[in-house]
Amino acid sequence: MTPTSRIIPIVSAATDYRAQDIARDYSDTLFDSLRRPLRDLRISITDRCNLRCTYCMPRAIFDENHSFLPRTSLLSFEEIERIATLFVRRGVQKIRLTGGEPLLRRGVEQLIEKLARLQTPAGKPVEIALTTNGVILAKMAQRLRDAGLARVTVSLDGLSESTFQQMTDSHVSVATVLNGIRAAQAAGFDAVKVNMVVRRGVNEHEIIPMAEHFRHSGVVLRFIEFMDVGCSNGWRMNEVVPAREILQRIAPHHPLQQMDPGYAGEVAERWSYADGAGEIGVIASVTQAFCQDCTRARLATDGKLYTCLFAGDGLDLRTPLRLGESNTVLTNLIADQWASRNDRYSQLRHQRDNTARGKIEMSYIGG
Ligand code: SAM
Ligand code: SF4
Ligand code: SF4
Repeated sequence: MTPTSRIIPIVSAATDYRAQDIARDYSDTLFDSLRRPLRDLRISITDRCNLRCTYCMPRAIFDENHSFLPRTSLLSFEEIERIATLFVRRGVQKIRLTGGEPLLRRGVEQLIEKLARLQTPAGKPVEIALTTNGVILAKMAQRLRDAGLARVTVSLDGLSESTFQQMTDSHVSVATVLNGIRAAQAAGFDAVKVNMVVRRGVNEHEIIPMAEHFRHSGVVLRFIEFMDVGCSNGWRMNEVVPAREILQRIAPHHPLQQMDPGYAGEVAERWSYADGAGEIGVIASVTQAFCQDCTRARLATDGKLYTCLFAGDGLDLRTPLRLGESNTVLTNLIADQWASRNDRYSQLRHQRDNTARGKIEMSYIGG
């Protein structure tokens, strides 16, 4: 069998977390109604952005008349730290800062310093990661690393100036983002990854150039299927390039071998180049939903807790927090919300009319 012929259907088998957790004795972990543990927390720290990616914040909607959240609505760093601490006590092991563009939030390093001090009940440090568009990363990478940030993921949807500027609806150059990626590598993060959202007819021609650019670089490039997040990006299924097709396009040029997941429930399927040039990943959120392994909670910019990227409603944690409620009260709110969670939007995507729901936008909930 050649490495290329090993491309087999992406299978996402349910992981028995409960058995693993009993073995590891994480007795404080919360489980939802589908027996999924709470493991990851994504925190959107701003709903603002310095790009206008057409699939995320189309300029026609996010224009100068758009009402972004006022400063007083945003959770302060102290409020974020307090809520994050409660999540960590009940199972969260990884925190990812996102947005909007998280590097636009002034003093983000101070928040990272606070979060990097958190420890799980088992005494392990909590891993702090951040997703950025990379536009101002070059000048910030070392400070972020020094503050305790472990991992950085940079979003980049193509290498050609015209495709990149069309997709981001900006005049930012690709070189600016590539400089940010290089600075992140030089800063010594545990991992630097690049996310590329692939949209049919828009940037699918960038798949091979991107793969080739990041071979031998130490950067893990991950291809993401275009998703129907929010209500503003005009998503259509025929604009999704399935992960399987992406692999089939790369493999004839650079044979691939499937790798084991890095950890239970990893959403990216990992593949290595057979010639040792590194690793890529595919995230098949649309064609092979992985809801059964979804362990993520999302804290939106204004302190609402969402249990699914495609949720319509969130639980307001900011009000009880500002009313001075105790940690016990706040923890019970979080625990009840997670216990009643039965979200599996992506698995049900094709079974119902999903357009009818008022889904929230990704820049607010955090990608
Ligand atoms: N501004 C930062 C950035 O772009 O990396 C962080 C926030 S952004 C919302 C997080 C990730 O979500 C990015 O990698 C972006 O490409 C991805 N994203 C946004 N809209 C998407 C969509 N409709 N489908 C798939 N991925 C999407
Ligand atoms: Fe901004 Fe990131 Fe959304 Fe692009 S994907 S508009 S960079 S928040
Ligand atoms: Fe998780 Fe919701 Fe995405 Fe399913 S659709 S993987 S439950 S965020």
